[in-house]
Amino acid sequence: MIIKDITIKISEEKTAVITPLAVQRSIFAVIAVCVVAVLCRKTISPGRARIRELDRKLQDITFKSEKIAVYVGDEVEAEPTAVPKNAEVSYTWEIADDGILVVQNGRIVAEKGGRTLLGITSGDISAQVKIIAKYKPLPPESTLPPLYYDKLLIANYKNTLSADYVPDHLIKIPDNYTADGYYGLYVTKETFDAYKALYKAMYSEIKGRMHIISAYRSYARQSELYNKAVQNYMSQGKTSTEARALALNTTQTPGNSEHQLGNTIDVSNDNTTDHDYLQTPEGKWLAENCYKYGFIIRYPADKEDITRIEYEPWHIRYVGVNHAAYMYVNDLCLEQYVDLQEQAEEEANDYALENPATPD
Ligand SMILES: [Zn+2]
Repeated sequence: MIIKDITIKISEEKTAVITPLAVQRSIFAVIAVCVVAVLCRKTISPGRARIRELDRKLQDITFKSEKIAVYVGDEVEAEPTAVPKNAEVSYTWEIADDGILVVQNGRIVAEKGGRTLLGITSGDISAQVKIIAKYKPLPPESTLPPLYYDKLLIANYKNTLSADYVPDHLIKIPDNYTADGYYGLYVTKETFDAYKALYKAMYSEIKGRMHIISAYRSYARQSELYNKAVQNYMSQGKTSTEARALALNTTQTPGNSEHQLGNTIDVSNDNTTDHDYLQTPEGKWLAENCYKYGFIIRYPADKEDITRIEYEPWHIRYVGVNHAAYMYVNDLCLEQYVDLQEQAEEEANDYALENPATPD
């Protein structure tokens, strides 16, 4: 019998050629190992068992790659590998307290975008892997809001804030920013920081007058204002139902006013809102420029059917520069923008199914 050369593919790159002689040697070697193995099993000693136990002791933990990318909302698939592979392990995971990763139903999930470390321990062996959490991107051709994941809180006729909702980081507005007699007003720190920049720009460009006459209102305060407005109409002879309907044109029911969010401000140049503010230089400037400082005119004139609030050129809300610019350029009120954010989220979810996260 003629044994021809046999080719064995060892890996993608290497190909070994085994000659007939080498084949014979290999067969012999395999048989020899088997015999030794059988003999060892029969004559295994306590010392040998101890060595085997040591062989199975965990020496290291590795991950499938140095950096692992994950989309926000998805589970981190870290896939640790024990070294040696047959080592007995009892893993404990460790996440940083930066809020990027959270544990949900026993799974490690990316909660927000950013870079963090994920730790793992078994016995006295620990390892860490870099995690890059990314927001799901929109398809390149999308025109929907890129910051769809930064959800803006909205209070309106259908979204009610709870009575105990109080924003974080409320600060007292210094009296030199408020109108005479309107003292002790509060807004969130980021709103006030943005307002200072807005005020400075307005003053340097048109030397206008702009004073704050209303800012954060608690649920209880909004309740007082609404009841007062209803009483006012009733004292003019309206029925309770008519009075409530009329009051809603200008005053929100408690929980439905964005003044409770702490990022909403009413401004004035003469300490009142009883005039057509848009016809003043300050009102014009505000309408055209407030988005540059992260504010929106919350109740625009041409959106009354959507917001269900009469046009209020003095009522501004801080949303951040990116959101505000998108709304300004696309002529959207907040209700429309929030709807587009939801559409964008769906689009991003679909796109992510076909385009997994990459670490770069
Ligand atoms: Zn207002």
